[in-house]
Parts: sequence; C-alpha cells; structure tokens
Amino acid sequence: MKDIFGYTLEELEVFLVEMGFKKYNASQVFDWIYKKNIFDFSLMSNISKSLKCFLNDNFCANLLKVSKVVRDEKSSKYLLELSDGNKIECVLLKHDYGNSLCVSSQVGCNMGCAFCESGRLKKVRDLSLGEMVLQIVTVLVEECIRIDSVVVMGIGEPFDNFDVLKRFISVITCPYGLEIGQRHITVSTCGLVPKIKEFASLNTQVNLAISLHAGSDEVRNKLMNINRVYPIKDVFDALDFYISKTNRRVTIEYILIDGINDSEKDALDLVSLVKGKLMYVNLIPYNETSNFTFKRSNEFKINKFYDILKKNGINVIIRKNIAGGINAACGQLRAKESA
Ligand code: SF4
Repeated sequence: MKDIFGYTLEELEVFLVEMGFKKYNASQVFDWIYKKNIFDFSLMSNISKSLKCFLNDNFCANLLKVSKVVRDEKSSKYLLELSDGNKIECVLLKHDYGNSLCVSSQVGCNMGCAFCESGRLKKVRDLSLGEMVLQIVTVLVEECIRIDSVVVMGIGEPFDNFDVLKRFISVITCPYGLEIGQRHITVSTCGLVPKIKEFASLNTQVNLAISLHAGSDEVRNKLMNINRVYPIKDVFDALDFYISKTNRRVTIEYILIDGINDSEKDALDLVSLVKGKLMYVNLIPYNETSNFTFKRSNEFKINKFYDILKKNGINVIIRKNIAGGINAACGQLRAKESA
C-alpha cells in the first residue's frame, strides 16, 4: 500500500493519469484529505466509483499513532509513533497570532551538537514525505485547529533530508492542500553550506534560520561538530548568497549557555558577524536537562548580552520559554522515553 500523504500534488497527478484517471482527480483527493480531513476514500462523494475502488486498493491514509501528549496552557508536545515503531516529536505552540507547529525531519540526528537531546540519539533514518506531512495532519485533527505556521526545527537536520524537505514544502503550501503560506514556514539548519546555497536557489519565500550559538570558530567548534566542516566564514558567505537571492531576512538562533558562549566578547563577536546584514538574532536561554552539565545563563548575563547587541544596532529578541515546562527542548520527550 502506498501512503497518500507521501505524494506531492504533481506526483499524484502523474500517477493517476498513468493509471487512466483524470489529472484533476488529484486535486479532488487533496481537497478531501487536507481541507475536509476526510481520510476514507469511499466518502469522497465527487469522485467516481472506479477511482474510489482504485484508491482503496492501492493507498492508505492513516494518521500517526499518538504515543503521548504533554500539554500546558499554550503548548502541546506530541510523541508520535511511526509505522516501524520509531518515535518522533512535534510541538504545537498556540500564539495570539495563530498556531505554529515545530516538526521533525529525521529519526534522531547525526550532527552531534554538544547541547542537544536529539543529537544524543543518533540518526536511525530520514523521515519520508508522508511522515513529515502527517505530523501536521495528525496534530490538526487531534486538536481540531488550523496550523498557521510551520517550523522545521524538531529532531533532525532538515538539509540532511533535502529532497523530502523540498517536496514537504510543496505539499504544505499547495492551494488544494494545507495552503500554508511560504512566508509562514521556517527551516532551521545547523549550517550545511552547500544546501544553504541550493535552498537559496529554489526561489521560494520560505524563511531560513541558522543555529549559530557562537560568534567565533573557537567556541563554535566546541559546541557544534559541523563547524569543523563548514566554519563560520563559509556559513556567512552562504547566508549572504541566500539574502542576495531571496531578499529574505535570516534568523540567527543563539542559545545562551552559562560560561560557554555568553561573555561580552562572545556578544561582540556576534555583532561583528551580523552588523549591517539582513539578519535578526533570536537569543534562547538554554533549556537545562539532566543529561548535560550545561547551565542556563543567568538573567544578568542574558540582559547584558542583549544590551550589547541592541546598542550595536542589531535586531534582537530574547525568546520566551513558552514550552520549556513540558520538556519542549528539541528531543527531550523522545529521549526520556528511550532512557
Ligand atoms: S541541534 Fe539540530 S542539528 Fe544539532 S544535534 Fe540537535 S537536532 Fe541535530
């Protein structure tokens, strides 16, 4: 059985035409699944009996199994089980301006960032297109809500699953499907330079975020293995290329860890990288877990770091810890289950 969520509209059109059906049948099926949330092909009243039979014989449309949900007032963290028993996470954040879902792109992650729960569990495999899309569909059905924005910042490095990522963007932006605006999608990478350039060349309006977490190679080498392959200069050259191609502002993610990357010098290093560029810095106080010795920077240091950036004309915010209380730092729920 093929997974109906594993097709882009164009792929489904080609397949159905090859099988003797009409091209427009694909958009009808998309409409039922993604707009009306009807997953039983027999109930799709505007398609022919022969197509219903064909779909029933060849496709499944199963949501992911919800293993666990941890909720608080503004967020829900889902542990979802895939058909092979592997588990992934996604996190729903309910903002005043809409619902945002942070999705995973891989089972585990091989990038090995020193502070990251997801990286503690090595990559088992990439997620399929269907598994990425189903995180959104499963949560919107469970919660009876619309998902307004999507962040690919959960478990895994999305640019290490690049082809699936491209098709995922195609499905979730499709006008017959979830119809999420490109500007409401953000992809976060730890800095795979060739893929940043390839992403820039796709000519989309999808936002790019980079997990930087240090303003010098010396500090970043200690936190992120990827920096030994693609040092900061190469990353910023690629980001300049992205900005020149898209004219989109890049988000710089910077987790503040006590005594590691939160000094005055660290702040000034960051200023020298970002100043004058179409970039925006998101300061994230570290979410402490029992598996690492890293500590969150104290309020004084966080505010001082922020002030240095602000005084130097950098666009910066300190991200509010909306979901920290439910272990929402990337990978924490899955890591707990596997412990
Ligand atoms: S921070 Fe991202 S890239 Fe780094 S180990 Fe965690 S999931 Fe992988």
